[in-house]
Amino acid sequence: MLSQSFIRRAAFLSSLLFFLLGGVVFRLFYLQILNHHLYREEVLRRFTLDELLALRGEIFDRNGEVLAKDVEVLTVYACPRAVPDPSQAAARLAPLLAEDEERLRERLSAHASFVVLRAGVPSSVGNALREARVDGVYWVRETRRFYPKAPLLSAVLGFVGKDRKGLEGLEYVFDNLLRGKDGYVTFERDALGQEIPTTVTLHPPEKGKNLHLTIDAIIQFFVEEALDRAMERTKAKRGVIIVNDPKTGDILALASRPSFDNRRFQEFPPEAWRNHAVNMVIEPGSTVKPLVLAAALEEKVVTLGDTFYCSGATRVHNHRIRCIKAHGQEKLEDVLINSCNVGIISVAQRLGKEKLYRYLRGFGLGERTGVPLPGEEEGLLRQPEKWSLLSIGAIPIGQEMMVTPLQLLVALSSIANGGMLMRPRLVQRVTDALGNTLEAFPPSPVRRVVSEKTARLVLSMMEKVVTEGTGKKAQVVGYRIAGKTGTGQKAGQGGRYVPGAYYSSFAGFFPLPDPRFGVLVVLDEPQGEYYGGDIAAPVFQEVAERILR
Ligand SMILES: [Zn+2]
Repeated sequence: MLSQSFIRRAAFLSSLLFFLLGGVVFRLFYLQILNHHLYREEVLRRFTLDELLALRGEIFDRNGEVLAKDVEVLTVYACPRAVPDPSQAAARLAPLLAEDEERLRERLSAHASFVVLRAGVPSSVGNALREARVDGVYWVRETRRFYPKAPLLSAVLGFVGKDRKGLEGLEYVFDNLLRGKDGYVTFERDALGQEIPTTVTLHPPEKGKNLHLTIDAIIQFFVEEALDRAMERTKAKRGVIIVNDPKTGDILALASRPSFDNRRFQEFPPEAWRNHAVNMVIEPGSTVKPLVLAAALEEKVVTLGDTFYCSGATRVHNHRIRCIKAHGQEKLEDVLINSCNVGIISVAQRLGKEKLYRYLRGFGLGERTGVPLPGEEEGLLRQPEKWSLLSIGAIPIGQEMMVTPLQLLVALSSIANGGMLMRPRLVQRVTDALGNTLEAFPPSPVRRVVSEKTARLVLSMMEKVVTEGTGKKAQVVGYRIAGKTGTGQKAGQGGRYVPGAYYSSFAGFFPLPDPRFGVLVVLDEPQGEYYGGDIAAPVFQEVAERILR
């Protein structure tokens, strides 16, 4: 015989199920009450369903600031037929639920087997509800994902769906670790295979693991502010700023625009969820020139004393490649300081296509960095046998190739790190609920690309780019900064360049001689001015200044 109270409880709880469709409460309830026999009521009186919900793990920044956590909330509901005095009940509940008394009274008097009085009630209200002892009013505990600093870092953190599964960003990539395990109840069985009600065992839920990121929330805040201002000022279509530590490969901040707010992700089009630091591919333009120069110095096909002559253009296989102006007689370092196309093409011709290709690959161009973010693009760097006769003039000036912003920063960071390419690090370690480290991800070198001597030489030339060359707008008074500007053309349908459509970029490292910060700024199709030195360098300067002061 089913008791009356159980039947009643089952009736409105089944209505509640439709409300909580797909939720874990549904599955537990279905499996453990509706689908089973009477004696379960006895068991479940002792173990309430919500005791079985596992909390998702937390996500912290490098200083222990909470970026994502589960909070417990209550959904308070009623079975109106079981409420003896709706007016009195409404008066008692109104202050507890912070809800209008009249509206509560209406709901409590409704002709329905089940009504939700309020969702998202702080779990601290549970005790007061228990003490208020209002007949016919119940509540279930639920968890909600909370991002205390949102919309900060939304593109990196991603979000969790209704069924508490990670759907984007780190929430998606590390879902198995973060998720935890829901608890459950088991019974022993008798000889006939029937469960024995007195032999119940509660298997408690296991909280998910925590992620400790390399992100610094304070730098992230500076970066997002600077990027918002730059987007507003330049009316660019897309924008990315990444800050790293070139020594360890740690990603300290990463912002992408357009973006979204991960608390309300459904309100944004899915395109806004994309993280352009790894999803966008661009022609790097002149930002690859330091890499070409490093390769040539390492292979000793050029020396510091070499001179070049720039008449304003050069001919590569019947094609005229122009410079911004005739740079005239130049030393090797002037090629970088002036960002001279003619000079760097002649350096690349001495290197030859095989070596040029091998070094650019060595710097990680054309391959995924392996950062744990969804949808990372690998970019494009064709093998030398697929190059055209023009390629030796296009590739050293950052054309006929595609990179992601992260790939570009990682490659240039190896110059700031004495020639050693580091794998970008976003997660430092995984801990359990007690804070014990379960897994650590130490900084990880990929390979040495050039010698320390070569790297130092190129870095000092990049310093002159900022003190006397195209990167003057990146200067921060009192600090030594190395950098490189880039202006890449955008290819449209059929691979033809779109007139007036450019990527503006600036990559910089500071403070010299031993940089601890690298910053890359990329703006896609800024309106009006488009030279990296005019558009992206000032954004770099703003970020660098706030980090340094
Ligand atoms: Zn030139």
